[in-house]
Amino acid sequence: MSEKPSIYDELGVPTVVNAASTKTRIGGSLIRPEAVEAMSRAAESFVRISDLEARASELISEVTGAEAGYVASGAAACLALGTAACIAGDDLGRMNRLPHADGGNEVIMPRTHRNGYDHALRLAGAEIVDVGNNDNHLGTGSTNTELWEIEDAITEDTAAIGYMQKSYSQPELSDVCDVAHAHDVPVIVDAAAELPPKRNLTRFVEEGADLVVYSGGKAIRGPQSTGILAGKREYIESAAMQHLDMHVAEEVWEPPADLIDLERFGGVPRQGIGRPLKVGKEELAGIIRALELFVDEDHDALADEWADRAELMADGFREESSLSITVTEGEKTAVAPEVFVRLDAEVAGIDAETLVGELRREDPRVFVGPDHLHESAFTVNPMCLTDEEAEYVVERVRSYLE
Ligand SMILES: *Cc1c(COP(=O)(O)O)cnc(C)c1O
Repeated sequence: MSEKPSIYDELGVPTVVNAASTKTRIGGSLIRPEAVEAMSRAAESFVRISDLEARASELISEVTGAEAGYVASGAAACLALGTAACIAGDDLGRMNRLPHADGGNEVIMPRTHRNGYDHALRLAGAEIVDVGNNDNHLGTGSTNTELWEIEDAITEDTAAIGYMQKSYSQPELSDVCDVAHAHDVPVIVDAAAELPPKRNLTRFVEEGADLVVYSGGKAIRGPQSTGILAGKREYIESAAMQHLDMHVAEEVWEPPADLIDLERFGGVPRQGIGRPLKVGKEELAGIIRALELFVDEDHDALADEWADRAELMADGFREESSLSITVTEGEKTAVAPEVFVRLDAEVAGIDAETLVGELRREDPRVFVGPDHLHESAFTVNPMCLTDEEAEYVVERVRSYLE
């Protein structure tokens, strides 16, 4: 907790001590200083954005094993762009009409994969067709979605299959890809928050995904307003055509050949559906630098650091008789271990909702994870804290308890 006044002090906006992990609404992650430096240097000259996208594509391809890659203004933006690519392909007329596709725009999703980011698919004109049910989660059956249900839903109007990647996602991605590819249908994987482990950079492509989306502003620690789309060249080309600024003179328009094969399109589309999802030269330089550093990072050492910090906080909470503490493995919904704090409101003299609300009203605001308030519990995540901040969080929580 630095004594130096921050830009937010100057602006009169309270800062946040982040014990809730990489959440966009409180600023995502802290961008790597080297990426900030790259952004600042990127601001010093002009560059053709398509050249810089081609350079990013090269790196994304190298680190993911995908044929090509692209950068847009977030993982959600990349979901929209990838969907637009699957719906429009190389058809300039369809690109022009999106989000009105008039057929060929169905995206099949297992019902248990549906989530708030579905809106990004619909933005591109997708109509989501969900299949299966919620049996396994409810305990009313052993599976949620059968492969045959996905296969059964594929029609002439299917543009893609949407897959939300979590360690517990079912059916298995490779099986879904087999079914999809048997019908020439691409699979788009939302792996926005599935890094680390580093291995997840290559894994989903290996398992057959046609397009994979990662957030640039989470564990990669690039600019907040970046996302990475990795996948088959034909879709990346279509994405680029629908994202780049297209007020170009056709006679002299010569995008990098390894980003867009002009032969394939036979014309220049207008500003596409992806145009509002733009990134600047600064974001592109920043994400390239951040991704290079992420790949070189020692993630085992980071995992040890997170585990130690979680234990440090757990020990502090254990001093309170009103709290019961478990440290969860960093595998299920979070990439880092988390301290799960259950509060006995009778003993503490305050309930979990009030406590979590009060912490947010402090200056600096203290954000803990609110996803378990209905069980009188909250989570504390070590990923976005220093040790000093971790001690501060424990101290602030304890200050409300009787
Ligand atoms: C964070 C997240 C996104 C959105 O990522 P942005 O880079 O903020 O656009 C999409 N899907 C999932 C599953 C996420 O966790």
